[in-house]
Amino acid sequence: MTEMSNYEQLAAHLAEARYPVFFTGAGASTESGLPDFRSRQGLWTKNPARIASVENLERDPEGFYQYYKERRSHRKEYHPNRVHTILAKWEQQGKVGMIITQNVDGLHQAAGSQNVAELHGTMSNIRCHQCGKVYDWELYDLRNCPECGGLLRPNVVLFGEALPQREYLKAHWGTEQADLFVVIGSSLVVYPAAGFVERAAQRGVKVAIINDEPTALDHLAEWLFHYEKAGDVMEKVDGHLQRMLL
Ligand code: NAD
Repeated sequence: MTEMSNYEQLAAHLAEARYPVFFTGAGASTESGLPDFRSRQGLWTKNPARIASVENLERDPEGFYQYYKERRSHRKEYHPNRVHTILAKWEQQGKVGMIITQNVDGLHQAAGSQNVAELHGTMSNIRCHQCGKVYDWELYDLRNCPECGGLLRPNVVLFGEALPQREYLKAHWGTEQADLFVVIGSSLVVYPAAGFVERAAQRGVKVAIINDEPTALDHLAEWLFHYEKAGDVMEKVDGHLQRMLL
């Protein structure tokens, strides 16, 4: 009998899993044209930690406002890629318990995924930095909250801020339910987010890491898919899974 490939093994575990959890990072969206942070083509050269920070919002509200207005203006150019569409299809087939994402681009939902914990918030709306009220982007031009006068800012987690409690608790719950945990496109160096991968492994759940370069938590993985695009890996696993689900 021939040995099963890693793609086939992952598909077989997915076919059997009751509550598979997928943990996605910026690398899940690079095939949509959105740059990630830490790979060679990443955004770090533009120093997002300095721009996307509470300190910058409070020190230079005008620069902060212009940066996000510009980022928002490009939003319609980005569309879900194979990673997003395959995950949305798997959810319909009962093969995604939850997606925990570090991304703020909304592409999982744009592809049709329903159960998504957005750990680092979302670029889909804005909120008041002072009172926390959430508004549509159209109001961003006002710059200040109509209710309390506080600064309006994207509803994302800035450097120097805690994770949104509701999303954190949701991701925590999902990780406690997980019987398979699949990482897609994350360097796994950002905490507390990467802590969910550690927690899943600690519970004895099998972990797969799909990332084109080694990650900080490779030692926890049962299966590693490196040096290959996430979309290619997902298509191969999907090919096996669809045959198994017949
Ligand atoms: P990261 O940049 O630290 O790591 C991304 C990883 O994905 C890298 O190791 C890279 O080699 C890999 N990768 C890139 N393209 C890939 C592909 N096609 N196939 C397989 N692997 C690929 O990103 P992170 O771990 O998500 O942490 C970065 C932080 O940046 C997060 O907090 C996130 O909120 C934020 N961020 C979000 C977006 C977005 O919403 N799309 C984009 C950039 C940064």
